[in-house]
Amino acid sequence: MTAPKSLLSALRNAVGDAHVLTDPDVIAGHTRDWTGRFSGTTPAVVRPATVDEVVAVVRACGDAGASIVPQGGNTGLVGGSVPLHGEIVLDLRRLDALGPVDAGAGQVTAEAGVTIERLHDYAHAAGWNYGVDLSARGSATVGGTVATNAGGIHVLRYGSTRRQLLGVEAVFADGGVMRRLDGLEKDNTGYDLSGLLCGSEGTLAVITAARLKLVPRPTHVVVALLAFDAAETALDAVGELRRELDSLRAVELFEQRGLDLVCERLGLARPFPAGHATFVLVEAAARTDPTDELASAIDALVGVADVAVAADDRGARDLWRYREGHTEAINLLGSPHKLDVTLPADQLAAFLVEVRERVVSVEPNAAVWLFGHAADGNVHVNVTGVAPDDDRITDAVLQLVARRHGSISAEHGIGTAKRAWLHLVRSAEEIAAYRAIKNALDPNSVLNPNVLLPPETRA
Ligand SMILES: Cc1cc2nc3c(=O)[nH]c(=O)nc-3n(C[C@H](O)[C@H](O)[C@H](O)COP(=O)(O)OP(=O)(O)OC[C@H]3O[C@@H](n4cnc5c(N)ncnc54)[C@H](O)[C@@H]3O)c2cc1C
Repeated sequence: MTAPKSLLSALRNAVGDAHVLTDPDVIAGHTRDWTGRFSGTTPAVVRPATVDEVVAVVRACGDAGASIVPQGGNTGLVGGSVPLHGEIVLDLRRLDALGPVDAGAGQVTAEAGVTIERLHDYAHAAGWNYGVDLSARGSATVGGTVATNAGGIHVLRYGSTRRQLLGVEAVFADGGVMRRLDGLEKDNTGYDLSGLLCGSEGTLAVITAARLKLVPRPTHVVVALLAFDAAETALDAVGELRRELDSLRAVELFEQRGLDLVCERLGLARPFPAGHATFVLVEAAARTDPTDELASAIDALVGVADVAVAADDRGARDLWRYREGHTEAINLLGSPHKLDVTLPADQLAAFLVEVRERVVSVEPNAAVWLFGHAADGNVHVNVTGVAPDDDRITDAVLQLVARRHGSISAEHGIGTAKRAWLHLVRSAEEIAAYRAIKNALDPNSVLNPNVLLPPETRA
């Protein structure tokens, strides 16, 4: 993939020679996604360090008629962060400053390239927490999580990224800059552009910084892994825990076959001697020790076949590894199809059975891995043993989700992977409104033109 010399030279002028990368070996990690399912080529990876440099890069690309894929940690799972159509990759990780924590208001300004792990450590040191957490925390960035409205393991308590967001600084496709970093809790002046950019997947603007709310830091965290012999009983328990446990911060669900894979591939000891159908991982977090409250809530549950509890950091991390190891262990089988969906609570149990049957009826060699954030109705349907470009799997799963009134994109976004199915869950009028917004803010399709919106003929 080549670019006009004039564009490369404008990019070098914008960020300096050292930060326009073109060596195929050096840029390989930027052109392939985390799963290995999506890969493309790019004339250059450009690494600005300031907002002015982002402006200069966006203008240079616009002037040359080139498109841009904004990229943070490249942990996105829907093919939205890699150059599938020869776009310039705009790597935002050098924008990595953190402003002072406002200790009274519980707020901080973080530049786009700050990782979620660093943000957590920084907030902790100031006596606060950040409400969004996910197992990609070591690489996923503030910019990427705002752009995808990331969810993660604590949505139940704190909500998705949009709920943490007080404002953003961003560069529009024409190089204009919006700066809304004052941290006002109440400000209903006109359209909420920061809210609009959250979840826009790099299609409307490049996010360069975000003003984020922090949450109180619990001093005690207790984790329990519960085993059940039927998925329905496990899901009933999730509802019960939500109702009874004030300190509940996370409820995750996975199956025996996923646990077996994680133990085998990641070399972990099995948590229980016997096998069970379904597992629920529960995290309670509070300013006073929630162990007794958690134990009573578990005692009151029906159908708990086995329990393991950890009240220390090491034990809690070990129990979490059974759940968080799923993504990594599944990837070791080859590039999976990852379909991240939400179901209404009363549809979840039936969906877990039906989705496996549907996938296997389409492709008998497929293996289906189901896990997710149980309290949000969010299931990660992972399918291995299928060619990366086999759209029949996506179609089968997303049609089923739509029939059961769910969402085809719980927290990962639409990306390129699901854009052809947007019509299943958004009306023609809504898609027309999306397109009008895109055309208004990016009339020349500079920013992520192949992401989120369906190809024109589908609308
Ligand atoms: C092991 C693993 C676990 C995960 N768990 C979760 C989970 O629990 N919950 C969840 O929600 N997601 C999860 N994800 C998905 C992923 O981590 C999130 O989508 C995350 O928000 C992506 O952040 P990133 O910095 O890596 O962004 P990227 O992958 O680089 O980009 C994602 C999208 O955002 C756009 N983008 C990135 N930065 C910017 C910017 N500064 N301005 C404008 N657009 C931008 C990109 O163009 C792309 O469309 C997981 C991924 C992995 C690999």
